Amino acid sequence: MRRIVQGIRVLLHLLYPKRCPICDRVWRPREGMEFSMGGRTVKIPVSCAYPVCDTCKGQITYVQEPACKQCGKPLEGERQEFCGDCARKEHAFLQGKALWVYKGAVKESIYRLKYGNRREYAVSYAQELLRQYGGWLYRRQLDAVIPIPLHRKRKRQRGYNQAELIARELGRLLEVPVRSDVLLRTVNTRPQKELNDKERKNNLKKAFKIAENGVQLDCVLLVDDIYTTGSTMDGAAQVLKEAGVSRVYAVSVSIGRGY
Ligand SMILES: [Zn+2]
Ligand SMILES: [Zn+2]
Repeated sequence: MRRIVQGIRVLLHLLYPKRCPICDRVWRPREGMEFSMGGRTVKIPVSCAYPVCDTCKGQITYVQEPACKQCGKPLEGERQEFCGDCARKEHAFLQGKALWVYKGAVKESIYRLKYGNRREYAVSYAQELLRQYGGWLYRRQLDAVIPIPLHRKRKRQRGYNQAELIARELGRLLEVPVRSDVLLRTVNTRPQKELNDKERKNNLKKAFKIAENGVQLDCVLLVDDIYTTGSTMDGAAQVLKEAGVSRVYAVSVSIGRGY
């Protein structure tokens, strides 16, 4: 029996080789993944696990404590509670967490997910996020996971919304419904990286709206691939709160330093 299982695995690997999401090299994880969520242990068997390879693990920066209590950005000093950005302004979401620092190979990885059709990376990102924050996410008692939407024009061009792919996998593992139908992007906003801080805010203020049916949710998790100043999360959280959602949390795959 074990031989058959092993054989199927080898065959699957040949048909659908697993790639490390960071270096994009084909590799075969030797073991599954395990993480604890509110007292229960979730196990992902080796055949379904898509972790970062051992080489890359040591080369990318996982966000660790001390991190900003508000947005999750890594902090320089132990004594700070908030990053400079969060000390200055209030966010519309209650708390945010991020997995990796947005630089180097992480940056390239996200680029390939968005523009290189490496959709399977979304599964890796979600699994890595849960390994890091499974307990925290579970304790939020979420009613829904909501991806930051793309404008439908952009989604059509790309063929998919990368945040939605990540959200779907997170929701599946957390056993929380994924609602990509409640939050919509209204205008095709200019890419945020072309704008300064003030322009970013204005650019996003009216970028989101709630679908016609409204929202009947109390506590939600917003999911995005990159967090920089938080203005995207804020824009989305704001409209959700205005529509009656009382608690909005945020999670992102990567987070910029020094904003
Ligand atoms: Zn790698
Ligand atoms: Zn912060």
